[in-house]
Amino acid sequence: MKELVIVTGASSGIGRELARRFSAEGHPVLMLARRRELMEEMHLPHTMCRSVDVTDLPAMEAAVREAEAVWGPAGLLVNCAGLMLLGHPESQDFEEWSRMIDVNVKGVLAGVKSVLAGMMERRSGTIINISSTAGRKTYVNHSVYCGTKFAVHAMTESLRKEAASHNVRFITIAPGVVETALLSHTSDEAIKKDYNVWKESIHGGLAPSQVADCILFAYRMPQDVCVREIVIAKTAQED
Ligand code: NDP
Repeated sequence: MKELVIVTGASSGIGRELARRFSAEGHPVLMLARRRELMEEMHLPHTMCRSVDVTDLPAMEAAVREAEAVWGPAGLLVNCAGLMLLGHPESQDFEEWSRMIDVNVKGVLAGVKSVLAGMMERRSGTIINISSTAGRKTYVNHSVYCGTKFAVHAMTESLRKEAASHNVRFITIAPGVVETALLSHTSDEAIKKDYNVWKESIHGGLAPSQVADCILFAYRMPQDVCVREIVIAKTAQED
């Protein structure tokens, strides 16, 4: 059996596609998200599906320990769970800002916390954090989302340095728009409509499988080679 892969946000979009691909390649996969039924209905072989909120560190650690007891230590963690709630700063609920920071920043840290010490001790392992082009540049209506993704970029690069001498890799994947459910959670209908008009003008976003291709490429490089960052977007996406 290959090494254990942990995917957060495995119930939808990029994470769902990643779980499918890693399972097909023979990896045992711990699939984490809140909606367990969406993960279980995929009926993927050698997977464990657990309903975990990524902001709940003890729940995350318990699920990771449970999977490691079955399949051995985690070789790869992909922090994919995320939330994009676009809004106008003068009217958006503070709760939406707070939730994005909790999931996109603290959720990534909970993932890191649950595997990093073991990886450093074993001197092997890879952590891939899904950021965004919104982690490199700012966009209108994206202030807090951009803030969370800039944080993911900064933390991943800093953690990479701190883990490098322990032979542990940190990798940032920064996609432009991808065809997933991400936008659907934005509550401002006018912003959603404008976003969709823009997306149609570039003939739609990337397929989740194209982002998964990049992640698999980076992961498959030898452990002593670290693809530090991949930025991928539709050719027609200017920003
Ligand atoms: P989806 O909305 O399709 O998937 C988001 C996933 O995150 C779901 O599986 C959801 O599961 C999970 N999630 C959300 N909140 C929590 C939580 N509190 N605890 C556990 N899991 C949670 O979006 P994508 O696949 O597009 O998003 C994946 C990542 O890619 C995100 O980090 C996003 O920011 C990033 N990204 C996406 C882009 C895009 O255009 N789609 C572009 C650039 C980056 P559940 O609700 O079941 O808990």
